[in-house]
Amino acid sequence: MKELVIVGAGPAGLSAAIYGMRAGIDLVVIEKLAPGGQVMTTYEVENYPGFVDPIPGWELMSNMENQARRLGAEIRGVELSSIRRGSGGCFEIETVGGDAIRARAVICATGASLLKLGVPGEAEFTGRGVSYCATCDAAFFKERVTAVVGGGDTALEEALYLTRFASKVLLVHRRDAFRGAKLLQKRVMENPIIEPVYNSVVRSINGSGKVESISLEDTKTAAMKDLTVDGVFIFIGYRPNTEYVPGEILNEYGEVMVDSRMRTSIPGLFAAGDLRSDSIRQIVAAAADGATAALSAYDYLESLARS
Ligand SMILES: Cc1cc2nc3c(=O)[nH]c(=O)nc-3n(C[C@H](O)[C@H](O)[C@H](O)COP(=O)(O)OP(=O)(O)OC[C@H]3O[C@@H](n4cnc5c(N)ncnc54)[C@H](O)[C@@H]3O)c2cc1C
Repeated sequence: MKELVIVGAGPAGLSAAIYGMRAGIDLVVIEKLAPGGQVMTTYEVENYPGFVDPIPGWELMSNMENQARRLGAEIRGVELSSIRRGSGGCFEIETVGGDAIRARAVICATGASLLKLGVPGEAEFTGRGVSYCATCDAAFFKERVTAVVGGGDTALEEALYLTRFASKVLLVHRRDAFRGAKLLQKRVMENPIIEPVYNSVVRSINGSGKVESISLEDTKTAAMKDLTVDGVFIFIGYRPNTEYVPGEILNEYGEVMVDSRMRTSIPGLFAAGDLRSDSIRQIVAAAADGATAALSAYDYLESLARS
């Protein structure tokens, strides 16, 4: 029996582990992949306070992981499959592979996954020209023409990163202006390699054996056109990883509803980071949520001990 199980070792989960260990909680972090979360796919992070110069995503997360481990946190490489309330108010945490962990409190910090376009060719060409991670795959597109789909911060950042390799980056967005931060928009507009393609949605990704073109529909005129590209990078949003969370605490977007102390309406169950309602989906916010959730879990465990 553990006092606390933290599910997910991204910024939220690792920060919760750091605060939890310092509060003297007997905890374990479970993580289905390597610790680090989405930040591991980010080339550089420029907006996490405390670093004058941009820091590689993997380095920032390796620092957080090592900090949690130095404080004694155990990080177990297992995937959670379900959580249910067991006897005596404890949580029964089932993992893929069959192991079960019992805990008095749980912090859900399983983040979010990138959304898919759901168009013909996307699944077929994933790994053969379709990618969701510029940091991982941009180098395969040296002197090639690529398309980035999306208009938020991530799409703009990844388009800028691709310009280090690609000869041209078509930035395809369904609206007539990007949504990303003004500074990023300025950098995109000033970059001669990036060519914005506004008011356009991808209808299919085409090729034979590998990506050769994308078919776009103009959102204003419904006119179709094909653009020749060698690769497509898709950054159109996120889906919270909350399949295992009881439906009664999810909102219409599948996000976990929490109060300002990261408490759900189920006593002892907390949520932190990208998977929660009203998250700004940034590292600094996820880390702050993790700290808050750990201290709320501490209060909860103390209240159990007193009762
Ligand atoms: C390409 C890209 C670039 C970004 N750039 C920036 C940036 O420059 N600055 C910034 O502030 N933010 C950036 N972000 C956003 C930032 O990465 C997220 O806001 C942050 O990682 C959220 O942290 P989290 O801990 O909530 O979730 P995540 O980072 O998603 O971590 C969740 C963890 O839970 C694990 N997990 C999921 N399901 C299970 C399960 N069932 N069992 C066990 N483990 C599970 C996952 O493997 C993962 O390690 C970027 C995101 C992307 C995708």
